[in-house]
Amino acid sequence: PLDAAGTSVRTVTNGVFSLSAPTPLRGPLTLVAVSKEVLEDILDLDLSVLQSEDFVHYFSGGKPFPGSVPLAHRYGGHQFGYWAGQLGDGRAHLLGEYTNKDGERWELQLKGSGKTPYSRSGDGRAVLRSSVREFLCSEAMHYLGVPTSRAASLIVSDEPVWRDQFYDGNVTKERGAVVLRLAKSWFRIGSLEILARSGEVDLLRKLLDFILEKYFPTIQSNDPDKFLVFYSKVVNETAQLVARWMSVGFAHGVCNTDNFSLLSVTIDYGPFGFMESFDPSFVPNWSDDEGRYSMGRQANGGRFNLGKLAEALGPILRPEQLSLMEQILKDYPQIYHKRFLEFFKAKLGLLGHDEKDEDLIAFLLKLMEDTHADFTMTFRQLSELSDHQVQARTIPPEAWAIRDLAMHELFSTWVDMYVRRLQKQQNDSDDDRRRRMRSVNPRYVLRNWMAESAIKKAERNDFSEVHLLQRILRWPFQEQAAAEAVGYAAQPPAWARELKINVQP
Ligand code: AMP
Ligand code: MG
Ligand code: MG
Repeated sequence: PLDAAGTSVRTVTNGVFSLSAPTPLRGPLTLVAVSKEVLEDILDLDLSVLQSEDFVHYFSGGKPFPGSVPLAHRYGGHQFGYWAGQLGDGRAHLLGEYTNKDGERWELQLKGSGKTPYSRSGDGRAVLRSSVREFLCSEAMHYLGVPTSRAASLIVSDEPVWRDQFYDGNVTKERGAVVLRLAKSWFRIGSLEILARSGEVDLLRKLLDFILEKYFPTIQSNDPDKFLVFYSKVVNETAQLVARWMSVGFAHGVCNTDNFSLLSVTIDYGPFGFMESFDPSFVPNWSDDEGRYSMGRQANGGRFNLGKLAEALGPILRPEQLSLMEQILKDYPQIYHKRFLEFFKAKLGLLGHDEKDEDLIAFLLKLMEDTHADFTMTFRQLSELSDHQVQARTIPPEAWAIRDLAMHELFSTWVDMYVRRLQKQQNDSDDDRRRRMRSVNPRYVLRNWMAESAIKKAERNDFSEVHLLQRILRWPFQEQAAAEAVGYAAQPPAWARELKINVQP
């Protein structure tokens, strides 16, 4: 059901979407970046479209796509543990769905495209800096192998957007930008919660049937337990997603139910961060002063959100199904743990199973925590050094993260344990191990300081570093001269430690 509410901000009932047209950005418009892979491989476009003057208008909301009926999605959510009521797409417009030549269906959404009925006190806009972060990170996550929304283009305008970045009373003029982003679906846990909370049970069931039919085709529509099967799938996939985040040191920053996808892909990139020195208490979101969504608490955040999904499904389940759902949720920690172990075993090049594998991983993480060793580069450098080099502790200066790690008095103990474990692997060679490890341990991730440096230049209309990052992060597992030249695999600069991530998107 649609609710024709235009752009007037209000509480919407009995609807999943509202008709809402984008508000064109005030020109002139500049195309900051595009993802060629998304344009060509997902949208079946020829890159010659970039020559068309219309491109920036279509992709920033200035010109409607033929046949498109732009919508804003109504959802609610639990934010930082509390029910927040109606949230919804406050600055995003769903343009429609595209089925590409591979038969994949993708939903196209503009972000920063103006007010909707869900804008609350917001202006419906997104600024250049947060748009650069979302654009770069969502694409980078894809190439890291993490399920995620994608980004097709980033367009900036001269439209002034006022932001108090650090909530310190300093309001500054920034520029409005629009990202065209894509996901197989933008439905979130909060999409169901709002209907359950407002007692719109028929609509809840209708939406769920729609979601199951469309995105979970393996679930039989006449299965009396179909919603349980669905729940179980979301529990599994969410556990897997959060374990993947951990495996690349990614902290989402705002693990609220409105930011957790029902398809378990990473969505809504805000104050995220890649952890530098290993620290489970790492909090990327400067406004999260309790550290609710710290690196190490993301799995808990996932569990909480899945509990809220169970509550949202409550009204349409039979009583005996409710307790089964509880049972499924009880398995979440184990599922998460299992995935975590698999990812970290792969990061260490371990094959098969050894009962001490978990200890080996935990031991390494503890050494990293104690020595503040860099998370990404510790694993990467372990993938590059030979086992002889590690064992003999002849660690070259370029392996700076391992050198930090080697300061620990128990480093040798760990190395002995690790090398003994590797030696037990039959049909494996040190070269094979290193090759395997290099394919899962990135050399380059979007560290906040890199994004910040690119943003500083972008704000002066120099997009060269945005493009450089885009190119490098396309191949995060491959050493690249252009990245080495600018220190992307080097020790982070001192100013990186002082960096605060803005809270006003
Ligand atoms: P987020 O924290 O980005 O997940 O956003 C939470 C909610 O605030 C969502 O409903 C957003 O659409 C909305 N929102 C965030 N920024 C703005 C803005 N500038 N204008 C309107 N709505 C916004
Ligand atoms: Mg959000
Ligand atoms: Mg956001």
